[in-house]
Amino acid sequence: MKAEIISVGTELLLGQIANTDAQYISQELSKLGIGVYYHTVVGDNWDRTVDAISLAASRCDIVILTGGLGPTADDLTKEALCSYLGLECVMHQRSYERLCERMKKHNITAMTQNNYKQAMFPESATVLDNDHGTAPGMYYEREDAHVFAALPGPPSELKPMFSNYVMPLLQKKSGKVLVSRVLRMYGIGESSMETRVKDILDAQTNPTVAPLLGNGDVTLRITAMADNLQEAKLLIEPTEKALTERLGEYIYGYDDDTPQSVLVELLKQKGLTVATAESCTGGLIASRITDVQGSSEVFNEGFVTYANEAKVKHLGVKEQTLIDYGAVSEQTAREMVLGLIERTNCDVAIAVTGIAGPGGGTHDKPVGLVWVGVAVKTSDGIKLSVTKNNFVGNREKIKFSTSTTAIINAIKMIKNL
Ligand code: ATP
Ligand code: MG
Repeated sequence: MKAEIISVGTELLLGQIANTDAQYISQELSKLGIGVYYHTVVGDNWDRTVDAISLAASRCDIVILTGGLGPTADDLTKEALCSYLGLECVMHQRSYERLCERMKKHNITAMTQNNYKQAMFPESATVLDNDHGTAPGMYYEREDAHVFAALPGPPSELKPMFSNYVMPLLQKKSGKVLVSRVLRMYGIGESSMETRVKDILDAQTNPTVAPLLGNGDVTLRITAMADNLQEAKLLIEPTEKALTERLGEYIYGYDDDTPQSVLVELLKQKGLTVATAESCTGGLIASRITDVQGSSEVFNEGFVTYANEAKVKHLGVKEQTLIDYGAVSEQTAREMVLGLIERTNCDVAIAVTGIAGPGGGTHDKPVGLVWVGVAVKTSDGIKLSVTKNNFVGNREKIKFSTSTTAIINAIKMIKNL
């Protein structure tokens, strides 16, 4: 099946916003094995929108429109689509009620004609509820099996509508399931990872194996197409095993895992708590841990000990250590993490100290030098790891790499208990 995405919006043509809706939909359609052949962008103009739909329908089986579903006069996508399809719109009761409820919630008493039009749909179309905004979307399958869908422009509305309502419909239409398993790695570069498993990557057709680009992680996505979920899983299993044999030491998680979600889950499983003492990351590690829902079960406190005095005052780092070795040193990192585990009631302590730059580096202690300490209470006393790292990149990147390394080091220590 071939698909075309038509994004409607003069803002897009003027370059005021990027067409991230089309990017997202393309990524999702690829998961169903549906090829996206064209991205079209058209302004908020009736004739040109109808022309675009007509051209798309002449060369593709699936036409997905984004944007222009709102209440204002320049929102004309649905009307143009229905006019092209020769379908008449009538009031859709459920959408009308949802619209009224939403208006009431926002204290809008008088509904204008413009508002009503958002609840008008052809009787033969499937109306897609907008769970995160006002304008519902629509999905329509013509007699010749061509599919037409119209979705709202705001990505926060479009994405859930697409994944919750459109994907299942398209999946049913394609008759196949596409199942993916993502392996997430840290501590290995992308090219050396690829080199290690090149023969496996090259040999695959179903499942396919490919690096998943774009979020800073080193990842591999195994994707199988099959008639059902069970069959797809069976196809994935041996490939995952072969990859794990070669890369297992670097794999920290799967699918939607993040280093912090894996850490929190592991701490929960083992009934442990964690505390943080951060210098160069300024609280980023604590922030990432608390990004995880339910982190309150495992995270009680964290310190941002940026200045030397703070390291002394809150963590009990010795002044002499700071004088002799400096704040960015193995000795300071060790005293930070040991002080933290002694002074708080945590089971796992994470401490970092380093130079995030761009200034402040020296020959011996260059920008990017970071010491990461992790201490874990065990029945045989405290287990400690202090590692030296040399990160590259700008300040933001060094802070982020530091936080990831610290979290991954903690995961490794806990797993090896
Ligand atoms: P609304 O009900 O908010 O008017 P709409 O469905 O009518 O939604 P538009 O009016 O076309 O959509 O766009 C609303 C906003 O959605 C834009 O200002 C922009 O922020 C975002 N948006 C629209 N189209 C896209 C797109 N293709 N990619 C990313 N963002 C988009
Ligand atoms: Mg609009």
